[in-house]
Amino acid sequence: MKLYVLENGKLVGPKINSIADADPAEIQTAPIWSVLIEHSGGYLLLDAGCHTDADRQHPMIYRDFSMAPEDHILRRIEALGVAPEEVGTIVLSHLHSDHSGYIELFPNAAVYVHADELRQRLGEYERGEAAVGVRDMAYWLEHDIKWEPIAADEPEREIFPRITILNFGAGHSHGMLGLLVDLPGAGKILCAGDAVYNRENVGPPIRLAGNMVSADGFVMTIERISALADKLGAQLWYGHDEEQFSSLIKSTEGYYS
Ligand SMILES: [Zn+2]
Repeated sequence: MKLYVLENGKLVGPKINSIADADPAEIQTAPIWSVLIEHSGGYLLLDAGCHTDADRQHPMIYRDFSMAPEDHILRRIEALGVAPEEVGTIVLSHLHSDHSGYIELFPNAAVYVHADELRQRLGEYERGEAAVGVRDMAYWLEHDIKWEPIAADEPEREIFPRITILNFGAGHSHGMLGLLVDLPGAGKILCAGDAVYNRENVGPPIRLAGNMVSADGFVMTIERISALADKLGAQLWYGHDEEQFSSLIKSTEGYYS
């Protein structure tokens, strides 16, 4: 099994998005990334980059999104000799556009998503409400995405040997998923997605994000993730931590195995 970290661009914006009590004038760079796992059952993606249309879709949030040509998720996997048709599984941490951007480019992928997240975004789309992720729903309905919802009452699911989806429930968004990967050499890696934006959220004390739908859920999720990472001895990878991300081995440099 090999785990590749794919760099997919960056967001630059107010730090209060990730740390609610930060200085409102402080600006933060948030790396956008995804993971490709080569395993016995095929190829799996965790998240799918940020669509270049994201600034048009969500101008208030994504006005400072940037992506070099090589950051495109297709360029990243093609550089590893992988075709989009070979990706059989996508796990979406949630449906925000900087995580779910290009799922329609993987025609054979089953797309795992939290059932509450999908229900909420479909409802917003049908009601014509402006919300993050809504514009993408139009693309996805056109492309007949093969959704695999994880029910709210299913705490986790091992989808392949050593690869487990974790159900974090509501917090940052309406339904959050994480991924626990148990690599024979590198050990356990727990990808938290935006359930934990960055190290500063963990504390102690836990610091709330400015951008979330449930403060109680956000705190409970961080407590659960921290306890789980401690218990398992897992590395905890945050959703948008610039310092941590700079220390990870990128797909252009190598992989975790
Ligand atoms: Zn998000």
